[in-house]
Amino acid sequence: MSAARPIRWLTPATGYLSGYTHTLNPYVGCSYGCSYCYVRRLPVAMFRSEPWGEWAEAKKGDPATLKRELARAKTKGPVAVFFSSATDPYQPLEAKLQLTRGLLEAMAEEPPDFVLLQTRGPLVLRDADVLRRLAGRVRVSVTVETDRDDVRRALTPSAPPFAARLRALRELAAAGVATQAAVSPLLPHTPAFAAQLAAAVPRVVVDDYFRGDGSGGRRSERLGMRGLYARNGWSEWYGPEPLAALAAELGRLMPPGAVTVSAEGFAPPPLAP
Ligand code: SF4
Repeated sequence: MSAARPIRWLTPATGYLSGYTHTLNPYVGCSYGCSYCYVRRLPVAMFRSEPWGEWAEAKKGDPATLKRELARAKTKGPVAVFFSSATDPYQPLEAKLQLTRGLLEAMAEEPPDFVLLQTRGPLVLRDADVLRRLAGRVRVSVTVETDRDDVRRALTPSAPPFAARLRALRELAAAGVATQAAVSPLLPHTPAFAAQLAAAVPRVVVDDYFRGDGSGGRRSERLGMRGLYARNGWSEWYGPEPLAALAAELGRLMPPGAVTVSAEGFAPPPLAP
């Protein structure tokens, strides 16, 4: 009988994640269970009996082996990692398992050229020490889709509250870690949203269902988002206009270059060949 193959942490990146060479997903499934999550329609979720949001598992493998994978990838050219594209690396399981932390530690020893750490979890603050070791090569992008708690409870009830995410962003910046707020997807919000973001972060990316779902809005339609908005009385928010309005307001409040839209806001910086 042949020995089990060791897990591969890095997966070649495709599609929307242009500019990245790899994605890294430490978990399968996600207990945040956002209603608009496109992973709901992927085979990993469709072939599972439990509903999306009610299960999550750690990938079984030694995070230290990421070091070897990175070293190998770096012999072929610059390495830019999107961490994570189909799960949240700081969902509740991570508090106990510390798998994401282990992977970051491996990265600190064999650094990629760039890593975007994409999360909703304020737990990311726990790892500020490791993130500082990756300074100049890491940006922490915290999803902050709305400042309205009624909206969060309706669309992403298991995800952490706005205030906790904003506090994590502020404290990471104070610890010397590069950050951005990802308003992705933009949800109905209060008139104070832009000013709160502008006061907390150096950089904001704004995205919506029409630009950011990778299919011109069709995936979000299939997930029933239009109907969900209608049932909540938010139909005026279901269109491309709110993004333009928020981006313009942020542009007035923040320095030039601090506000980006859709894919450009998630892209890595130019990497040396
Ligand atoms: S946190 Fe991300 S991966 Fe998890 S359910 Fe929400 S959108 Fe999907």
